[in-house]
Amino acid sequence: MKVLVTGGAGYIGSHTVVLLIEAGYEVLVFDNFCNSSRESIRRVEKIVNQEITVIEGDIRNRDDLRNVFEKYAISTVIHFAGLKAVGESVEKPLKYYDTNVNGSAVLFEVMAEHNCKSIIFSSSATVYGDPHTTPILENFPLFVTNPYGRSKLMVEEILRDIYVSDNEWKIVLLRYFNPVGAHESGTIGENPNGIPNNLMPFIAQTAVGKREILSVFGDDYDTKDGTGVRDYIHVVDLSRGHVQALERISSFRDPMTINLGTGTGYSVLEMIKAFEKVSEKKVPYKIVPRRAGDIATCFADPSYAKKVLDWEATKTIDEMCKDSWHWQSKNPNGY
Ligand code: NAD
Ligand code: UDP
Repeated sequence: MKVLVTGGAGYIGSHTVVLLIEAGYEVLVFDNFCNSSRESIRRVEKIVNQEITVIEGDIRNRDDLRNVFEKYAISTVIHFAGLKAVGESVEKPLKYYDTNVNGSAVLFEVMAEHNCKSIIFSSSATVYGDPHTTPILENFPLFVTNPYGRSKLMVEEILRDIYVSDNEWKIVLLRYFNPVGAHESGTIGENPNGIPNNLMPFIAQTAVGKREILSVFGDDYDTKDGTGVRDYIHVVDLSRGHVQALERISSFRDPMTINLGTGTGYSVLEMIKAFEKVSEKKVPYKIVPRRAGDIATCFADPSYAKKVLDWEATKTIDEMCKDSWHWQSKNPNGY
């Protein structure tokens, strides 16, 4: 079975490609490398010990996509390609709507032209906004506060509309919580451009000496220690969720919306402590004011994923920190 992985050279995509190949799928990677490098694919090839077919192209370009669908009989698309920086999306909303919304619509149109109607889409817990209570269930009200989040919600809604118009479509919307960690080999991992926005890469770069000090955004939230609480999930667990979804997608009737999280929330200070323990490095930090747009607490109720995908996260916070550290210390400057 041929699976097209858009954004397959990126952080989550590259880990998913490893697991798909290990599970016996034929994988094609489609990426324009705007936020990744070919080196990640070379390293994936080393891990799985086989060559990977990579097509350089842009999801916004119909001809790039048509060439792929004409050449290969693709049964399902796993759609990771997109832009993901919340702050940048506020500065450049049209860039985000063009890539994430328009690019996805072009992809779905070309899929339909070639009678490929099976898709797994990367959504995000950001669609829940500031939830009234936790853990978060899939049927909670949706509320988005920035163009990135809105672009994810729009694509979810486009896919639900596509299903209404043609119920041959098989659709899985996966809402990720906070992906962290790296492949246990330490050869692939998260490789942010410039100063990391996310907590875990910032901690790892501080531990390795690339950054002087971590800013903790607020210690006056209504949480266990005053710092923000999130559901960090190991990227390999998250990737395995895609393999489970792919194995079941043809048996689903309606579009499926599924949280991928662990169900446990850790605070910023707990993450720093866990990282210091496994890395045996000090992570200097200072408390600074809250970051605009942040919420106090966000963690999943992952029981629906257990029920319909037979999936649950298994990796602990120590494994998340250990694998992030392994990747960071082996590759202090990324790829
Ligand atoms: P990433 O930036 O590492 O990977 C995205 C990939 O898509 C990159 O390789 C990039 O080059 C490619 N891409 C971007 N625009 C493209 C285009 N127009 N045409 C072709 N390829 C294009 O990001 P990631 O962390 O692996 O995230 C993957 C997906 O998961 C994204 O859609 C993201 O919004 C979503 N997501 C990520 C997180 C997270 O915290 N990492 C959380 C929730 C959801
Ligand atoms: N955070 C922090 N310092 C940083 C980056 C993040 O204190 O340099 C905090 C942030 O306020 C939040 C948590 O870490 O409570 C996770 O933030 P991240 O940006 O990784 O994910 P998201 O905001 O998308 O949940």
